[in-house]
Amino acid sequence: MRIRMPADLHCIGRSSAKLRITCSVSITRERTRSILIWARSRYIAKLAAALMLTTHGVTATAQPRTWIVGATIISPERADNGRKMNVLIEGDRIAAVSEALPRAAAQDAQVVDAAGSYLIPGLIDSHVHLQSVPGLTPSMQFRHPFLVRDYRAQLPRSYLRYGYTTVINLLMTDRSVLDAFVASPAHPDLYHCGALPVADGYPSNLAPSLLRNREFPNFVVDPKTASGNDAKEHTPQAAVDRVKQQGAICIKTFFERGFGRDHNLPVPSPELFADIVKSARSAGLPVLLHASSLEAQRFGIEGGTNIFAHGMWNWNEFNQSPTLPDPVREALGQIASQRIGYMPTMQVIGGLHVLFEPGHFDHPSVRRVVPPALLDWYRSPSGQWFKDELAGGKTDEQMRVMFDAVLRRGAESTGYLAQHGAFFLFGSDTPSGPTPGNLPGLNGYLEMQRLVAAKMSLRQILEAATINNAKAFGLADRIGTIEIGKRANLLLLGRSPLESVEAYDSIRSVWIGGRRLDPASLEAGK
Ligand SMILES: [Zn+2]
Repeated sequence: MRIRMPADLHCIGRSSAKLRITCSVSITRERTRSILIWARSRYIAKLAAALMLTTHGVTATAQPRTWIVGATIISPERADNGRKMNVLIEGDRIAAVSEALPRAAAQDAQVVDAAGSYLIPGLIDSHVHLQSVPGLTPSMQFRHPFLVRDYRAQLPRSYLRYGYTTVINLLMTDRSVLDAFVASPAHPDLYHCGALPVADGYPSNLAPSLLRNREFPNFVVDPKTASGNDAKEHTPQAAVDRVKQQGAICIKTFFERGFGRDHNLPVPSPELFADIVKSARSAGLPVLLHASSLEAQRFGIEGGTNIFAHGMWNWNEFNQSPTLPDPVREALGQIASQRIGYMPTMQVIGGLHVLFEPGHFDHPSVRRVVPPALLDWYRSPSGQWFKDELAGGKTDEQMRVMFDAVLRRGAESTGYLAQHGAFFLFGSDTPSGPTPGNLPGLNGYLEMQRLVAAKMSLRQILEAATINNAKAFGLADRIGTIEIGKRANLLLLGRSPLESVEAYDSIRSVWIGGRRLDPASLEAGK
């Protein structure tokens, strides 16, 4: 049996001997639809993005100077359990972090009494896909422009609601969506990677062939075999130069042989990958490799990738092993000792699992991040299409058991890395495919819960989502800690994130660039 996931990106690989699971961009169903529909849907998405600019306001107060007084400061570079201190925000920067509060503090600044609360740096989610709408393929987006409009209007608010003050978009296929995101009244800081798929490889294979090169203009070809224009325009060097000029802070490429019918997709040769790494390094950009299998992560280790954009839940021929097989252990050991950045992205699978959990869409947390009309649609028979297609007649229980097996492998890999001091990065991969089980903001919180279950420590999670992400993406001089001169992206929590993961669901205030937001005002329908 084969299951396909028509829609966005990413993947699982072989989950069991019987079931091959895939994920990614619009595929099977979409292939039967016309390119015209695809192109029109992109137009509608842009229109919706433009419409959203006028629809939502946000409760916020902007003060030129604010003292946050008496909070327990937990900043990852301090490696302590927190100290009671005071933080001064001036404009969009942190201007002071001190134990003593100046006597005249209240005279020329707003004072926020934060006694009993915990102040941490704003969270960084380094694996998002803003252009994708969970649960809607491009042609569905065309048919439901108002659902898309409402979703895109809520999107930046949902990330902020869950404390994500910086997001890194890993595939820029539609600039207008990113432009609309940063034009919205309140939004996380946004950065992006340039995507360099190998020609006709994943994920460009998921776009209609005639539009493929337009959707993925920075595909790469092996300089040794390329000819004509390709030889000049699509070398790693040319592609890296181009995306850097467009503002990319990182390079993403892919080792993915595909799924189902497309299981023999081209992957980069070691020589091509070496060229990508070399070009990226000379441009000062880290390389992320999409790789979720043992084979793909071995390739990345060998080739010198800086970051793995997925966890290893596909152990290839060892998938049935009840414990961590030696070859997996060996690869993970290298990843840890070489300090390769690692995003476990457990919610790629978790976001499929929830579709088979009763009452998932009734949870109050879902209502916080999904506009009411879209939530109604998710609950409707039409909105269940992806679940139905995944299940292919299997029961909910059977599907849960199957995904549990994949999750177990991902969790064991993550747990081993946690024990061996790996350099974890936090990325939620939202949405990882067309699943409505990956919802912005909330997906990050669910990812954290899965990381705890996989035996990552709370300190490892905090570091991954702040200082490690900042360092890995070259942003450490701007964000990631509570230090003088850094951008005032801060969260005030009711609980300590070093004592329970639920602390991330106790956000009392969010500061983005010095501007204070009330989390309740960021929820859908507010
Ligand atoms: Zn992704």
